Amino acid sequence: HFSDVARVPGDPILGLLDAYRADPNPAKLDLGVGVYKDALGLTPIPKAVKQAEQRLIESEKTKSYIGGHGDTLFGEQLLKLVLGEGSPALVDNRAGCTQTPGGTGALRLVGDFIAKCLPGRSLWLSDPTWPIHETLFTAARLKVEHYPYVDSQNRLDVPAMLAAMERIPSGDVVLLHACCHNPTGYDLTQDDWRQVLDIVRTRELLPLFDFAYQGFGDGLDEDAWAVRLFVEALPEVLITSSCSKNFGLYRERTGALIAVTADGDSLIDVRSQFASVARNLWSTPPSHGAAVVGTILANSELRQLWQQEVAAKRERIAALRQGLVEALAPHGLAERFAHIAEQRGMFSYTGLTADQVLRLRREDAVYLVESGRANIAGLDAARLDQLAAAIARVVG
Ligand code: PMP
Repeated sequence: HFSDVARVPGDPILGLLDAYRADPNPAKLDLGVGVYKDALGLTPIPKAVKQAEQRLIESEKTKSYIGGHGDTLFGEQLLKLVLGEGSPALVDNRAGCTQTPGGTGALRLVGDFIAKCLPGRSLWLSDPTWPIHETLFTAARLKVEHYPYVDSQNRLDVPAMLAAMERIPSGDVVLLHACCHNPTGYDLTQDDWRQVLDIVRTRELLPLFDFAYQGFGDGLDEDAWAVRLFVEALPEVLITSSCSKNFGLYRERTGALIAVTADGDSLIDVRSQFASVARNLWSTPPSHGAAVVGTILANSELRQLWQQEVAAKRERIAALRQGLVEALAPHGLAERFAHIAEQRGMFSYTGLTADQVLRLRREDAVYLVESGRANIAGLDAARLDQLAAAIARVVG
């Protein structure tokens, strides 16, 4: 009976949102949930998306199912966006795209694929990582292991990461955040990436890139640098791509699993498995979001508009990072928090302790995750001085 069903606690980050909503303080600040927000604190639909939707309403002729790999135009366009126009893998016909319900759908699909087709291989996650990585791959019955990413002060620790990777058993799968690491905001330098590539190649590991923030770091192509480095150097790479953040399509569940294989034959085999595994998960993917993305990327006018909108988001985040460090300077804290300006993407491991986070919540109605992770896009440019004063008080 349902009376035997135990209750599980809700998602802690969504719980934080509930607490924020219930807080009557008009000066409250939500730095918790991972959606982009503009200067008004809103997450509006990008103009390029609205315009593509208008075109689609006119042109769409059927709601019959789309194929198991999804929208063809979307697939072609996304491959080029992720791998680059002239990617050797595309030229050699050894890269394919399977549309999924969001990046999360792509992660679950690849998890089930590994469990079914590459049995015995463990999956290695950065510590810390996006919490859903932990639960999702466990639910897919994979053995989940960890390599360190930060030190005890929550600062990026590349030597520890590389040393741990040297000990990963040959053949195992290693998940890498392509850019804008969630939750820390710490990304690797090009030199670090080359060292990771050396280890992956020598130990014959299978790299799985989670690419959820393309365009939010340094640029659409710049953020794909590591993915493209690996694709050019290795026969086999897996990539999960999300259009939630860069296209603002969160609820339309738009993403893809991209496979790069040694040759065209093995691409057909691998893709047959993707379609077969997906059949048991969601059968065929939803149409709307992918049709929007395909329409935007294939149309030079819409694409340009979209690129400007992504650039505006990226620049707002960069300005807020810089602005917060500058606002902390009068308190003598610019050096201590300089990493906030160096990190990339929406998130920052601020270095604030759980106690300090709870004080900020209680005393200033500033809501961030207890790990000290802040969503930088949630900051208010006009109130950085106020926030800096509050931070100075709790760390002082
Ligand atoms: N990977 C990472 C690292 C993420 O932060 C997210 C979104 N929070 C996703 C994947 C999945 O995004 P979605 O399913 O909404 O496309």
